[in-house]
Amino acid sequence: KETNRIQLPRNMIENSMFEEEPDVVDLAKEPCLHPLEPDEVEYEPRSSRLLVRGLGENEMDEDEEDYESSAKLLGMSFMNRSTGLRNNAAGYRQSSDGSCSVPSLRTMVVCAIVLVIAVSVIMVIYLLPKCTFTKEGCHKKNHTMELIYPLATNGKRFPWAKTRLPSNVVPLHYDLVLQPNLTTTKFAGSVQITVNVIQVTWNIILHSSGLNITKATLTSAGWNQAKPVAVLEYPIRDQIAVVAPDALLVGQNYTLIIDYSSNLSDTYYGFYKVSYKDEHAEKRWLAATQFEPLAARSAFPCFDEPAFKATFLIKIQRDEQHSALSNMPKNITIPVAAGIVQDEFSVSLKMSTYLVAFIVANLKNISKETNRTLVSIYAMPQKLGQVEHALDTAVKLLEFYQKYFHIEYPLQKLDLVAIPDFQAGAMENWGLITFRETTLLFDNKTSSAMDKKLVTAVIAHELAHQWFGNLVTMEWWNDLWLNEGFATFMEYFAMDRTFPELQTDEEFLKVRFKTMMKDSLNASHPISSAVQSSEQIEEMFDALSYIKGASLLLMLKKYIKHDSFQAGIENYLHNHSYGSTRSDDLWDSMNEVTILDNVKKLMKTWILQKGFPLVTVKRQGKSLHVQQERFLRSVESENWTSDASYLWHIPLSYTTNKCNPFLCPYAYLLDQKSATIELQEEVAWVKFNVDMNGYYIVHYAEDDWNALIDLLKNNLTALSAKDRAHLINNIFSLVGIGKVPLLKAFHLLDYLVKENHTAPISQALFQVNLIYDLVEKRGMQDLADRVEKLLRSKIDQQTWTDDGTISEREFRSTVLAFACSHHLGNCRTTATKLFEEWKASNGTKSLPTDVMKTVFTTGAKTDDGWEFLLSMYTSSVSEAEKHKMLEALASTEDVRKLIWLMQTSLEGDLIRAQELSHIIATVIQSLPGHLLAWDFVKENWEKLIRKFHLGSFAIQNIVTVSTFQFSTEAHLLEVKTFFESKSEKVSQLRCVKEKTQCHSVCVCALAIKKACELLLLQKPG
Ligand SMILES: [Zn+2]
Repeated sequence: KETNRIQLPRNMIENSMFEEEPDVVDLAKEPCLHPLEPDEVEYEPRSSRLLVRGLGENEMDEDEEDYESSAKLLGMSFMNRSTGLRNNAAGYRQSSDGSCSVPSLRTMVVCAIVLVIAVSVIMVIYLLPKCTFTKEGCHKKNHTMELIYPLATNGKRFPWAKTRLPSNVVPLHYDLVLQPNLTTTKFAGSVQITVNVIQVTWNIILHSSGLNITKATLTSAGWNQAKPVAVLEYPIRDQIAVVAPDALLVGQNYTLIIDYSSNLSDTYYGFYKVSYKDEHAEKRWLAATQFEPLAARSAFPCFDEPAFKATFLIKIQRDEQHSALSNMPKNITIPVAAGIVQDEFSVSLKMSTYLVAFIVANLKNISKETNRTLVSIYAMPQKLGQVEHALDTAVKLLEFYQKYFHIEYPLQKLDLVAIPDFQAGAMENWGLITFRETTLLFDNKTSSAMDKKLVTAVIAHELAHQWFGNLVTMEWWNDLWLNEGFATFMEYFAMDRTFPELQTDEEFLKVRFKTMMKDSLNASHPISSAVQSSEQIEEMFDALSYIKGASLLLMLKKYIKHDSFQAGIENYLHNHSYGSTRSDDLWDSMNEVTILDNVKKLMKTWILQKGFPLVTVKRQGKSLHVQQERFLRSVESENWTSDASYLWHIPLSYTTNKCNPFLCPYAYLLDQKSATIELQEEVAWVKFNVDMNGYYIVHYAEDDWNALIDLLKNNLTALSAKDRAHLINNIFSLVGIGKVPLLKAFHLLDYLVKENHTAPISQALFQVNLIYDLVEKRGMQDLADRVEKLLRSKIDQQTWTDDGTISEREFRSTVLAFACSHHLGNCRTTATKLFEEWKASNGTKSLPTDVMKTVFTTGAKTDDGWEFLLSMYTSSVSEAEKHKMLEALASTEDVRKLIWLMQTSLEGDLIRAQELSHIIATVIQSLPGHLLAWDFVKENWEKLIRKFHLGSFAIQNIVTVSTFQFSTEAHLLEVKTFFESKSEKVSQLRCVKEKTQCHSVCVCALAIKKACELLLLQKPG
């Protein structure tokens, strides 16, 4: 799936990652991902005045307060809340430091006695049952029994005690009949599952969640008739056990028939309902599915693990006036009762349960045939005018993939459907891909250049999954990156090949920068890591699986060269079609086609270790000494020591002023801690990690940094635009860990006056944004002026139009958004003028799409403007336009309006709940907003996890953004205390742990603050 792209890096468009906007600012909204979004990072003095006053107060006036003093007040209020905890922590520390430091005889005796007592106490505690110290105490249940086999809901022993299903029975085919009722919003179902027995057993264990099972029978070819069977339920693991009347024999097929009913879900998961207004403004319902990763079980009993592939025959009974879609083409429609008909779809190919999908709705479509496949785009009837771009794009990309993989798309149809309320970015269900409206629809009048890139990227990603994920599937969720990393990699690759004018390789570069920021924290994780629980599985859908996975594939492709890489992929897809794989299967397929026999060994160092290396280069004459250590961002940068156990096999690449064009860039595999590379001759400069195709950061000796800085100033085209962007990112990353003084990074930026390319400038804006507010507020006007001087001419050059290449348009959008938000030039004057004209025309005058958001955001600063924008929001039929409006509405600093927006979105009526995490991400960017958002999350926590479910991308995102600005210990303690008061499941969430380990902003803000303070001491000239 694609995560919500709008909040996320764009690639993650699938399930969850999809909500962000494509400019500089949008990167920030990833799930636990980008610690440092430019606009979002705020520093202490701004923080917390709201907390002092409390969320409930409506008296909040907007007068200019002294932030410093309110911060102090605020700090005090935090202290009061958390005094108890802090005291405990302090007491603990003292006692653990104290004793036994002076070994006099007496002390030693006392210590020995204390030790004996301590050991005894520990042993007693250890031997007592764990429940002794829990709130509930010990129940009278038989603990031994419970450990081995849990109890089913009826009190009987449940015959299976593991989270993963047994492999003694495997499904072959499902015959599924569903009757969703859009009036009662309930559904009834009947499933016949044909299974094959691998090992003799009396039980069939499978998944079922929230289904009311009314009847179950079992048949076999050898039996005269179906026999009723008992069904035991163990809801904690979503498992049911069918108890057979006789032993089930090896090699035999049996058919299990289960009748059941349930409610259509009011979350975004499972078989769920969506309300919408039709073209006559009547409220209607539709029902759609989102099964990945674990929700097929809530629509029908099934073996809900990706490796249990089977074929599916789906029949849907519906009202005559609706229509139904599923993975396969419709075969036949027959009447079954008055006003009710049944659609029967063709039998599917062998596939995983999480890819099954069906929709019952009233949608309209346009279609085009290519290579015997009918491609259709579906949307609500009033939005049919916005689907053409998607259809052309999908057809082109489908043709590209078939050629590139040398494997035909195996189905006769491919539907792409815009669902009016959808949590993820999109979902790759085989033959029936579902999207958010903003990731599929393109409106000529209101969609910007960046919107076009977004739609194209999401389609490219989902189509890649038809091979990576659907045809060949990861065996278990620990290797989710095989699906998501590959689809993300292919998305950029296919766009680059098919739509080069979109320049998406620079987009890829940008998201790699962000992902490395997340991956450089200690709370990161290897992209292939063991997962069991549903929350752990949900949390795999993060930037690391998507972007780091894709980055590693890019690095491998550069190393083994494109032809080998393509042959390896083809091999892999052919060898494992309709099967499931682990990471090793991919490396084996690559090894078969490349003379470099070390692919597996090399790649294992990248997928099984978290983080990435810092490569330090020292040049002496013709020798380059290179050494590697882990790049780790931490609060105590001066105590920074690398963990020596980390070692990567790094395919280094480098270029110099003497690079031979036929051999350039040079490659060197660093598989030791250090090595020496001999150059042919002495060189003036050397640059490693060419185009940043490798996943590592490079540090140079001072002279080499100076040589590169001079090169940029005097001959910037000697390096590619990607290399220039990379140098900017690279040097600021080193500032963050205290390896390079901030002043040096600013020296490097001085070349920007000559820079005209989008990638380096947007990277510079990103980095500058992180410190801009800070330096401005601390009276470091010198530095602020310096930044402004660099950008001034770029701002003045911009026109308020949609002219130019995609890259120029994106650049304009980024620069003007930055300028208006920092009040530079006459940006706000122009934006206000455009807004007033638009308002005077009652919204009929068209605005340039690339600056539309900036115009709306400026207009929303007055009450009048805000109210007008809200009324236009409720009547617009363009999701692209609404998205820009909503962001503008949420950027107000009026507290009552912000509360209203969040509350209204949580209710999901006027503003859909799918927008909530994006609203929160925008709200926190303003001074009043960020504490407000956190209070909102705390007060509505139970509602939030009911709607979005624990571990989901939306929840990860909400937790991350609502605590994003926090950078004091008091704040972190507050966050920690809150989550610890919830269930253990909550406090174990990775995004929560990252927060409570002072992970993101805190670390980065402190590091940069320290750098700024040092700089202040040096007082730049
Ligand atoms: Zn995906």
